[in-house]
Amino acid sequence: MKFALIRPATGEQALSGLAERLRSSEAHVTFRVGDQKIQTPCPDADYADAFRLLLAELDRLDLRGDVRVVGHRVVHGGERFSRPARIDAEVLEQIRACIPLAPLHNPANLAGIEAAQEAFPDAAHIAVFDTAFHQTMPEVAYRYAVPDAWYREHGVRRYGFHGTSHAFVAGEAARMLGRPLTDLNLVTAHLGNGCSVAAVRGGQSVDTSMGLTPLEGLVMGTRSGDVDPNLHDYLARQAGLTLAQVTDALNRESGLLGLSGLGSDLRELEAADAAGHAGARLALDVFAYRLAQKIAGMAVALPGLDALVFTGGIGENSADMRARTLRHLALLGLTCDEDRNARTVRGEAGAIHQEGARPVLVVNTDEERMIAQQAADLLGGQA
Ligand code: ADP
Repeated sequence: MKFALIRPATGEQALSGLAERLRSSEAHVTFRVGDQKIQTPCPDADYADAFRLLLAELDRLDLRGDVRVVGHRVVHGGERFSRPARIDAEVLEQIRACIPLAPLHNPANLAGIEAAQEAFPDAAHIAVFDTAFHQTMPEVAYRYAVPDAWYREHGVRRYGFHGTSHAFVAGEAARMLGRPLTDLNLVTAHLGNGCSVAAVRGGQSVDTSMGLTPLEGLVMGTRSGDVDPNLHDYLARQAGLTLAQVTDALNRESGLLGLSGLGSDLRELEAADAAGHAGARLALDVFAYRLAQKIAGMAVALPGLDALVFTGGIGENSADMRARTLRHLALLGLTCDEDRNARTVRGEAGAIHQEGARPVLVVNTDEERMIAQQAADLLGGQA
């Protein structure tokens, strides 16, 4: 659970923070107030407990009354939502209708909305969808080559996720390049625990690596990304696994964790690689190779490529992973300046390509700010 109290006009954050390791003995909420960081341990707390701690902190700072609009990140909006929506009974119903497409995420999003509506009854509540930005993808990019009836009757198509982040960093990249977003062709790579790349043409998404669910595409922390679609059948026959067991393993035991046998956290794997751990080395190499393949694939969706953009915890901080990936992309004229790359970490944004080459940018994503901005825009100045 991440949160921020933001003045959309200035981006100023009166309070921000996140709850981590919930439902474990190490559960805690971190609050950031100005330059101050306060960590509140709350062993075994769940989301509802963490939300109550947030409310208590708002009360302590006498800020609860300042909350006029609540922007909610909602993972799956299906084909119904191509922009944010003010939450009413019908919108809630539509979010509920998308539960089969995101059975882990949408119910949690709904629980969050209901808790916030109760805590802030006078505020406007806006849903901002992870899928919305990608609704501009052309049919050639979003259709799977499967029976047409699966699409018509069951919505089997590619939707894409991380839309808020891809949209935000595309805008930031345009600012850094000093060119209008409408003129630019970008590939954006959002690399966190979940990872996806997108092709952004003139500020609109024209392709992305995630599909029906956030499992498709790149190697991620614990998610496999692309595998052979016969895998479920093969493992059912060879290993006696059920559909649910294979799906669970592809989501929770694969990716960097599965390949390394060590963990899903890139920092941990980089340290292990430096100490000679073969599994960690393999995980990093596969991650970079598949990422480079997808970046090159995204370029096909664009008439040209003005810049590659890295963002997310890995994209913003791992100079090593950026360099590993760029080594595979010489064909596209993408390069890495060692010094610039090494300097551009921990909140530092900037260009990391070699002088005169095609721009490669590192941009800090700020989904909370983008959600606040979109919510405020929807209300047209009433906020
Ligand atoms: P989420 O998708 O949950 O928002 P983040 O965007 O915070 O995740 O990204 C988490 C990933 O970023 C983890 O794999 C973490 O190891 C990696 N990361 C964060 N800081 C660094 C760093 N300094 N060096 C390498 N990787 C980092």
